[in-house]
This record gives sequence, structure tokens and C-alpha cells, in this order.
Amino acid sequence: MIHEIIPVGPLQCNCSVIGDETSREGIVIDPGDDVQQVLDLVEKHKLRVKQIVITHAHIDHVGGAMKLRAATGAPILLNQNDYALLKMLDMQAAWVGMRSPGKVEIDHSLEPADTVKVGSLAAQVLHTPGHTEGSVCLYFPAENKLIAGDTLFAGSIGRTDLPGGSYEKILHSIHDCVLALPDETIVVPGHGPVTTIGEERESNPFLQRG
Ligand SMILES: [Zn+2]
Repeated sequence: MIHEIIPVGPLQCNCSVIGDETSREGIVIDPGDDVQQVLDLVEKHKLRVKQIVITHAHIDHVGGAMKLRAATGAPILLNQNDYALLKMLDMQAAWVGMRSPGKVEIDHSLEPADTVKVGSLAAQVLHTPGHTEGSVCLYFPAENKLIAGDTLFAGSIGRTDLPGGSYEKILHSIHDCVLALPDETIVVPGHGPVTTIGEERESNPFLQRG
């Protein structure tokens, strides 16, 4: 599997460019900004982008989606529980001091237990509400890899003080859904360094049970 991680925008959201080496079909996850740099990576690997997946509707993850769709023709996928947040992009832009990307149109809702396929690659959609109602993680079982959005970080978890956030729900999602994955699973969080499920299970201070 081709996988490049590029931090984009002022909040340095980890955008993933993933591709199947044989079919050269690709998927881009969380193109928050810096779309030209994302497209340069797509070009470098000679990929045809087939899906644009948004882990949740915060501006730093979704801000570049329409530009990327215009450049690639690929559909934009987001869980429908975050559609309300999408309508607040202007307000989100003001909060973080970014320019509003304008209206973002979603082509399909990503439903829990959906499988996102590109070439021979398959990712399971895990619905992990808490950071937002419609937050999802993408799990590639064959590659032992989880794209975690802002649900789980190295040594931390997603903030829950924004609209739609719930501390109870994010802990529930992480314990019941994310930590159910094998220890060796590589976790690519929405921001910051890559980690593993085992590392977070053992040492993440937010996940220790007394
Ligand atoms: Zn977020």
C-alpha cells in the first residue's frame, strides 16, 4: 500500500494519500488545506483518486475537499451525523482564523460498517462519536493500520468541548471500538505523530482504568 502522510493547513491536520500499487487507484483522507501539495503527492505516485474521505466535519479536515473533488472528480464521503457541523464552516473558520472554504457538498454518507474500497485495498468504517457526532475512523485490517481522525492521538484524545462533542462518548468509542483492535495496529491520528494501539493502551493517560 502506498501511504503518504502530509500535515496540511495552519492546524497541521494529517492528510493521508493512500494508493493501491497495482491498480494505482487512490483515496485521500482529510484534505483540510494545501490541496496543491496533496495533488503533487497524487501525481508523484501516479494515482487516480477514487474517494475523498472526511473523518469529521471540522474545517481543518474538510477545508480542501471541494478543490480536491474539482481536480479529481472523486466523491466526498462523510458520516451524515456531521452534516450539521458542515453548515457551520463559516463559524468554524472564524474560530480558528482560517478563510471559509465556502459550501462543501457531500456525495455519500459513510455509514458504520461500510467498507471503503480502492483497488485491492479495503477499509472498514468505524463510527466513533465523541469528538463530533459523525466522527469515523478507517481501519485497513490487511495493513494493520487505523486512520483515527481526531478520536485518538499519541498520548491524548480528541477534544470534546466543541459543538457535538461528548467526553463520555469519545471514551466509549475508544474503549469499545478502537482499543478492540490488535496491539500492533499502527494509528495515524488527525494531528501529530503516528503511534500504535498497544502503545496507547499501555500509556495514554486518558485511557487508564483505575
Ligand atoms: Zn476535529
